[in-house]
Amino acid sequence: MTSTLAGAPRPVAPRAAGPAARLLPKARANGGDELWYHWLPAVDRIIPVPDEYRSPRLDLAEAARELGTTEELLELLVGAGLPAAETADGPRFDYHDIMNLGLSTGLGRSLAELGERQCLRLAAGQPQAWLTERTTRIRLTATCSAPGCDGTPPLPAAPRPEGGRLDGFAADPNEPGSVIATVTTVGAADAPRSETVRRIHDDLLDLLLTGEYQYSWLPDALRERPATAWENRTVDCVIAAWRMREQARAAGLEARTRRGFLLGLVGVEHAWTEVLEDGRWLPLDPVLAFLASRHKASNPDFSRFTCGSFHNRLLAWDRSIEQSLADHTCPHGGRVRVDCRQLPPAPPSSPVGPGAP
Ligand SMILES: [Zn+2]
Repeated sequence: MTSTLAGAPRPVAPRAAGPAARLLPKARANGGDELWYHWLPAVDRIIPVPDEYRSPRLDLAEAARELGTTEELLELLVGAGLPAAETADGPRFDYHDIMNLGLSTGLGRSLAELGERQCLRLAAGQPQAWLTERTTRIRLTATCSAPGCDGTPPLPAAPRPEGGRLDGFAADPNEPGSVIATVTTVGAADAPRSETVRRIHDDLLDLLLTGEYQYSWLPDALRERPATAWENRTVDCVIAAWRMREQARAAGLEARTRRGFLLGLVGVEHAWTEVLEDGRWLPLDPVLAFLASRHKASNPDFSRFTCGSFHNRLLAWDRSIEQSLADHTCPHGGRVRVDCRQLPPAPPSSPVGPGAP
């Protein structure tokens, strides 16, 4: 926030794309190529969060930091149509719009892109590496969104590692809402036998690759209304899981959605669909395939893997997209969110009892 403007009313910025000629002199001063080839096309490309779901909580400085750019460039983008709420303290942005703008630039500097690249390292390397057994010690922390919630404190539910095991799952007495768990995850390679099941995965992947539907970060309230998000042509893992479950059921197949985390230093919340075929549940995860396609290090075979195989970095719960990963009936209507962080391996347990030093 520039101090000279603080508190002063500002004129409402035009929402429609301004005439290019008007932006040009300023654009040159801001590294024009990047503006013309990355930022302005990204503003045109993103599908803004619908008005009734918007929460303009980022100010100019915060939004610029998330995007890895300058406040001046961001002001130009507002002039070019980036949605912003004009307040006495300057423009304010919806967090999801800013993250989606960053993801859409292809510059690799926004926090959203850096996080995505870090997470999608799981798509690099050889398929064999996606299957081996991995043991990870994690901390799961549940928090309620209602300020000062006085309901029964939420505690994360226990995961059910697919084909793996849970070796420890205990509440941390020092941190309310937190459990420490040791999980062993293992991958499993499989593929659909029927064209119907394969198409459910591939059709959704195509819609994302062609840009007909846009992969987007979405606010929780919109994720809870997947049909609305789908109508708006915005898709994240939850919306995709919902859509594929609908399609599978419409085709007469038994299908369910599941939730979990993609394990890493910071676990990334994830959701996917599973279809019952010949007595086994096959995971379909075209969103992960789409995200992998944006990163050079990804193995080109990854999109085949996400059609039927379990990755060893996927930690699953037996919960659908309609369920939370923590049980909490909030008296204040709050939402529970669960975070997952990797911990260093447990120190070897020291000998206890007589004779122990
Ligand atoms: Zn609560």
